[in-house]
Amino acid sequence: MKIGILSRGPKLYSTRRLVEAAKQRDHEVQVVNPLRCYMNITSQKPQIHYQGSELERFDAVIPRIGASVTFYATAVLRQFEMMGVYPLNESVAISRSRDKLRSLQLLSRKGIGLPVTGFANHADDIDDLLTMVGGAPLVIKLLEGTQGKGVVLAETKKAAESVIDAFSGLRANILIQEFIKEAGGADLRCLVIGDKVVAAMKRTAKEGEFRSNLHRGGSAELGKLTPMERQTAVRASNVMGLNLSGVDILRANHGPVVLEVNSSPGLEGIETATGKDIAGMIIEYIEKDAKYGRTRTKGKG
Ligand code: ADP
Ligand code: MG
Repeated sequence: MKIGILSRGPKLYSTRRLVEAAKQRDHEVQVVNPLRCYMNITSQKPQIHYQGSELERFDAVIPRIGASVTFYATAVLRQFEMMGVYPLNESVAISRSRDKLRSLQLLSRKGIGLPVTGFANHADDIDDLLTMVGGAPLVIKLLEGTQGKGVVLAETKKAAESVIDAFSGLRANILIQEFIKEAGGADLRCLVIGDKVVAAMKRTAKEGEFRSNLHRGGSAELGKLTPMERQTAVRASNVMGLNLSGVDILRANHGPVVLEVNSSPGLEGIETATGKDIAGMIIEYIEKDAKYGRTRTKGKG
């Protein structure tokens, strides 16, 4: 097959591993920077040009889209979809996963366990909003943060009020969430491919920190999931319409709760923690699933 990897960083671990895994299985592979693609959307025949000429036709593309370029890069991916190229993850599913509120609404509609979460546009009725989500301590998050940036723990009502005030002053969209204290600063990153959790790691926050992101100094070890946690991760990934995802789960007293579903999960931490060849599994999935014009979310918002 001819596989395109949409990535701005050919030297990044995940991109390198995917290139390696594709070559090992005798595929042709090209890393394409989505920001350098330009498109003709008015013609009958949609096209993508790259660095001065038309891109050759791929059988499949693997989007590795950074949060800061979601808007343009998903438009490029949509163009590939219009041309019938099989996307490992679709543009619609990626856009959903990038908006935490939209994701949580979709997941809650399907009855998936979530932390109690509130969202408001105005800081006017703050008292009631804080009561609605169960009062302090609370976690306050920027709607489009990643890698733990923009996630704040407010231990008291006063602290919550000032953080909400500060964020609203900046016109930032935020959500306010029940703090799952019993998780003890640990979460589970479940890597889902298709209908299976293929690897899981337990990430533990460093001393004095509640965010377990590896980018925030968290440490990772092999994760052992209960059947319920496994099922929750697969359902969450499917509800989002993703074929590849990293589902973050917290162990709450009332069962597993999903924090977010990542559509470009990093491979380095999880391959290292589990010793598994995840890049290889991704390529194998594409070999089985890729078909001209195949998408899961066609026509859905
Ligand atoms: P990001 O997209 O920045 O990774 P997350 O929502 O995944 O944002 O939050 C980052 C980390 O903060 C999580 O991995 C988890 O360790 C911690 N965390 C987030 N929300 C909660 C919560 N409601 N209760 C306890 N810990 C949380
Ligand atoms: Mg996260």
